Amino acid sequence: TAMMTTMLSVRGLARSFGAIRAVDDLSFDLARGEMLALIGPNGAGKSTCFNMLTGQLRPDRGQVLLEGIPITGLPPRRIWRLGVGRTFQVTATYLSMTVAENVQMALISHHRRLFNMIRRAHRLYRDEARALLDLVGMGDQAGRAAATLAYGDLKRLELAVALAHGPRLLLLDEPTAGMAAGERAALMRLVARITRERGLAVLFTEHDMEAVFAHASRIMVLNRGRLIAEGTAGEIRADPQVQEVYLGG
Ligand code: ADP
Ligand code: MG
Repeated sequence: TAMMTTMLSVRGLARSFGAIRAVDDLSFDLARGEMLALIGPNGAGKSTCFNMLTGQLRPDRGQVLLEGIPITGLPPRRIWRLGVGRTFQVTATYLSMTVAENVQMALISHHRRLFNMIRRAHRLYRDEARALLDLVGMGDQAGRAAATLAYGDLKRLELAVALAHGPRLLLLDEPTAGMAAGERAALMRLVARITRERGLAVLFTEHDMEAVFAHASRIMVLNRGRLIAEGTAGEIRADPQVQEVYLGG
């Protein structure tokens, strides 16, 4: 039988900036194998929520539990070590390396092999990096300089780098931003497959409603920091309040 394991529990999470209640009393659960979408207009509080989950931002109130263990307010590195992954922008440093080296560096960092990193970074984790690149469909581009990648491929590389840290919970803040329509669909299908195969829990924000409706197992709608609706794609599409504040009628 399929067991519903609660990966993430959020209880009464709140954060203000001055008079602005960026996130106001937010509570939800996220199970293993789920792809939960957090949508809402600009300024709704989506990134603030993500930043509290990853430790980048301290909540004013509320609790975050990862498989029942409180992680509220822990430093980002601790939270990341406990298995909360997030896609990062590939930096200039990474652009100077090959595709495979980017993933190898992430694996090295995950396994804390500092000495080996200095000594022979290029040899370590070659097979593991290759397996991750195969997983995201980039095995044939392992030797390429990251700087020469098309934007969509760079996003797939970011995903491989995030997976190198062995996350149980993956947070994707607008994973398909800046991509062409065809690439967007392909990336979302890839994320869905990896979520299934690895038993991850995924929380993602996305402006592309087609991608949300096609892939989210559940959708939460945030407006001015508050959860105004939660449900399946069908339920969210039909919700009059959601149409008003977000889908524009
Ligand atoms: P979203 O990601 O949904 O667009 P944000 O979480 O970025 O929304 O922002 C929510 C609200 O909090 C907005 O009104 C925004 O201006 C405000 N906000 C976010 N971060 C900060 C900050 N560091 N300082 C001041 N106000 C902020
Ligand atoms: Mg945002």
